[in-house]
Amino acid sequence: MKNVVLITVDCLRADHMSCYGYKRKTTPFLDRIAKNAMFFENAFSNGPNTRHSVPSFLSSTYPLLFMEEVMGGKFHEGRKSMAELLKKKGYATAAIHSNPYISKFYGYNRGFDYFNDFLLGQVEDEIEMNKVSRAIKEIIKGIKAMMHKLPHEDGEKINEEAIKWLESIDEPFFLWLHYMDVHMPYVPPNKFLEELGLRKYSHIKKIWMGKKIDDVEMRKKIKDKELPDYINLYDGCIRYVDWVIKEFMNKIEKKFSDTIFVITADHGEEFREHGGLGHEEKLYDELLRVPLIIYGKEIEKKTVKKMVSLINLAPTLFHFLGIEKEKWFQGKTIFEAENFVIAEAWKEGRTIAYRDEKWKFIKGKKKELYNLEEDKKEQRNVYNEYKEEGEKFEKIINMHIKLLEEERRKRKTWLQKEKIRKAMKKIRG
Ligand SMILES: [Zn+2]
Repeated sequence: MKNVVLITVDCLRADHMSCYGYKRKTTPFLDRIAKNAMFFENAFSNGPNTRHSVPSFLSSTYPLLFMEEVMGGKFHEGRKSMAELLKKKGYATAAIHSNPYISKFYGYNRGFDYFNDFLLGQVEDEIEMNKVSRAIKEIIKGIKAMMHKLPHEDGEKINEEAIKWLESIDEPFFLWLHYMDVHMPYVPPNKFLEELGLRKYSHIKKIWMGKKIDDVEMRKKIKDKELPDYINLYDGCIRYVDWVIKEFMNKIEKKFSDTIFVITADHGEEFREHGGLGHEEKLYDELLRVPLIIYGKEIEKKTVKKMVSLINLAPTLFHFLGIEKEKWFQGKTIFEAENFVIAEAWKEGRTIAYRDEKWKFIKGKKKELYNLEEDKKEQRNVYNEYKEEGEKFEKIINMHIKLLEEERRKRKTWLQKEKIRKAMKKIRG
């Protein structure tokens, strides 16, 4: 049986990687891997930030399948993650990352034999389950700031833990590594800025810039003329994470030769293309377009131009592993995927986007339509000029919402039955 290493990089937008045509050589290692892999030129996440995208791609279900999850953050039991399903098939499973939104606290350890989210035990104990979802993040950030540490663990630490775990288990395994190095506050080692031919920044300058962009209020006051500096640091972080991935893959590739590596991101990052910085609940391409590279000795080397989204990831992986179709997945394999992508987000209401090669239609508080052939950056809303197209896509979205509601009902009924079954079993002993 084959092993799987799923590598996701938080906030890594595809168009800032050299293998996706970026002007700077940010990803020399992944460029090489991409040439020897199944390389997806047009891959999209189904949600614009961690809490929308991760539950979705882990389980091949849409982000807004369960509304209580959107509100409270807890990974819903009505989704079955790749880890749970592969564990049942006899895989050793592990996840290593330091993103609080997908921590054990929110139930993301489900299905993993080993789950390291680097959260201090006492922090978790102090926070009750009914507190708002941002509370935990803020507290951890406070503690880390006091210790003058980054708000996340760096990629080298993630690798170290991963290697340790790999030494302790038998194959086959499913290992998920989620790197936070490209996430703000963007503090790359200068060495990697220099490799990109960029100027060095003092540590104090980096920390100060990081503090400004990490703080919601201060972020708004960042001037447009400061953006090139932020982009330099962001690119430096990408150069660093490319090196981190190289270090990891070089170390394990020989020992575990029958391994499929997937390299992708949970979402991208906005640099004021639509007025903001970071990754808010918007559905424009800078937040949705992600890398997707599937690499392994039996994986066909080719560039795939077809549009795919991360909902296709788990079914495709299972296909490569020779596991038959999984009823828990809403997505299809990349081979069967439709020629459009649906992305979803919730912020004081539902926003859903339809995207194909030519059009992007967004239905949120208002209706937006972009002609991507003429307006790649989604700057000119042409909904009023192309009402007919808009209405066609709106119908697809409405149909999608209906299917999602049906799926939600089905899964909730199933969960209810499971609960009763378990209770009966307990009574009977
Ligand atoms: Zn994220």
